[in-house]
Amino acid sequence: APTEIPQVVIDAHGLPYLNTKLPVKKRVADLLSRMSLAEKAGQMTQAERAGLTTPGDIASYDLGSLLSGGGSTPTPNTAEGWARMIDGFQLQAQATRFQIPLIYGVDAVHGHNNLYGATVMPHNIGIGATRDPQLAERTGAVTAAEVRATGVPWDFAPCLCVSRDERWGRSYESFGEDPALVESMETMIQGLQGRSDGSDLSRDDKVLATAKHFVGDGGTAYGSSTTGTYTIDQGVTTVTRQQLEDIHLAPYRSAVRRGIGTVMPSYSSLDITGDGKGAVKMHARGDMINGELKGKLGFDGFVISDWNAIDQLPGDYANHVRTAVNAGVDMMMVPYTYKDFSSTLIDEVKAGRVTEARIDDAVSRILTQKFELGLFEHPYADTSGAAAIGSPAHRAVARQAAAESQVLLKNSGGLLPLKKSEKVYVAGSDADDIGNQTGGWTLTWQGASGDTVPGTTILQGMRAAGGDVTYSKDASAPTTGYDVGVVVVGETPYAEGVGDVGNGHSLSLSAADQAAVDKVCGAMKCVVLIVSGRPQLIGDRLGEIDSLVASWLPGTEGEGVADVLYGARPFTGQLPVTWPKSESQLPINVGDASYDPQFPYGWGLTTRTTVPHGGGGTLASLAARAATAERRGDRTTGQDLVDQARLLVQQKVGQRMTAAVAKPFADADHLLLTGHYGQALAKLAQAYRAA
Ligand code: BGC
Repeated sequence: APTEIPQVVIDAHGLPYLNTKLPVKKRVADLLSRMSLAEKAGQMTQAERAGLTTPGDIASYDLGSLLSGGGSTPTPNTAEGWARMIDGFQLQAQATRFQIPLIYGVDAVHGHNNLYGATVMPHNIGIGATRDPQLAERTGAVTAAEVRATGVPWDFAPCLCVSRDERWGRSYESFGEDPALVESMETMIQGLQGRSDGSDLSRDDKVLATAKHFVGDGGTAYGSSTTGTYTIDQGVTTVTRQQLEDIHLAPYRSAVRRGIGTVMPSYSSLDITGDGKGAVKMHARGDMINGELKGKLGFDGFVISDWNAIDQLPGDYANHVRTAVNAGVDMMMVPYTYKDFSSTLIDEVKAGRVTEARIDDAVSRILTQKFELGLFEHPYADTSGAAAIGSPAHRAVARQAAAESQVLLKNSGGLLPLKKSEKVYVAGSDADDIGNQTGGWTLTWQGASGDTVPGTTILQGMRAAGGDVTYSKDASAPTTGYDVGVVVVGETPYAEGVGDVGNGHSLSLSAADQAAVDKVCGAMKCVVLIVSGRPQLIGDRLGEIDSLVASWLPGTEGEGVADVLYGARPFTGQLPVTWPKSESQLPINVGDASYDPQFPYGWGLTTRTTVPHGGGGTLASLAARAATAERRGDRTTGQDLVDQARLLVQQKVGQRMTAAVAKPFADADHLLLTGHYGQALAKLAQAYRAA
């Protein structure tokens, strides 16, 4: 790496903003007071690294930030490759008058997914299924360590969308459909950033995080476009004020409490029933960004726009710029239009349509984070942590996350866990495909099937576990002589939009997958694993499947899936979203007045053989103890009691799921997450009686 600026040089400047002994606030004020309007506009501008006409533009335009959009990777795509690339850009920034370092950002949404050889975590939907906040924090910590070790201090994650309709192509970026579940997984922010006061940000294993996409990205309506195109991605979220508060704003309230450093507005529009504004793009909603986020919630980090999002605003370009800036967007992700943006912004300020005070506020917010990150003192990459990238210790966290994310939906006759003595016939499109297993946002924006990244597939994991396994992808090999079939089916990778385009956007299994399931399940007892970013409709086939597992997109560690299949760890995952019976039920969510899913939100059988805390007891006795736990705010006991009650309900229900069971069962999980253990128990008792 280029030589760091020596402390003596810093001191020789005699400029207060370079004095590390001064509080950040003073340093920011000092630097700001010296900057020209052009320099300030530059700080508010973020270009794509591949969009730079020449690296010299970093200095010419005083650019504040660069990003690598999905798949915009250096050659070689190694830690050194990233560090050298970013240092090269940083060297340009150091040639500016005040040597303000760039802040470089990437989408590391499930591990450092752009880097070849990184530890790739399950996508957020799988993290939500773990119901394990500590594990979510650890996955964030591993991600941060791997990202920062490549010279990147900023991660556009986590997505806090509360996804309400699985036809949305970003469902898997969501922790789930219940805002309480999303909030409980926000421990990931601490994993990424460290302490909520920002004091860990300068560490070499922490990054600045981004809560996205503010607000209501997961609530857009499906297929509502008059042109007949699907509008669910970047579409319109229509909600009452109360729904907005309870469902979509809630996760931001807690993210701000956790000290989230940046927030990205959503491409979508928000239509609040009765506010008279109609559907307005989020990048133009000053009432939300300035009013709610910065005002009411007290967010003091900075707001980064989404990719080219201002281009979607009405009017001419000058209007795009002033609308977004005046709505409270502090930095603009203008990948290829950085020159237009900064010059237009300067003109708008000169014309008095954007105030200097607004600019100063935006720049102060940006500089504050740069100081907190320690970038002024250490602008260049510190790759000392690079040896840990993809290391056994990091992969162990991803493996545990993969294992805990597996949701056992059905287990007739206790077919799972498998025994090593059993002869297993493995088939299906996703059994031996690491690309499918990692999904979108892996090396490239859309991701790809096939042998894309280092790791283990589910099949390899089963073999490593010592299973007696024969593999026939299309199930063409003879099926005779086997004890159990394991068919691994699901989606091919996608990002944003409406999902698996190859399969006609449908939530049904592909014809090939259905054929494999029919063939294997027709010939022997069978387990079906669904590797997908969202529930898949299996409808009538459920009867022919003995054991069914929602595997989500488990990441690079297929051994984690094998761990639960072979019983090295128990199944403990729970559905983060409702599993529908049919397309016509969509959207379907916990709390709906009528609710008759295939499997309710919160469902998930366990192969755990011992019940925590001694266990036992009738529902009535559990309920009494849960009420006490609730009064005392004793989360550990409350959780245990609800888990025990859930087990009793699941045992009684068996395969006979009905609406009368599903609704209270799903409600119980929401109540548990919000600390209402007594009420959760009452709901489970109701489900038990109905079963
Ligand atoms: C996505 C964002 C992402 C950005 C930068 C956009 O298309 O909506 O989530 O952070 O690209 O890659």
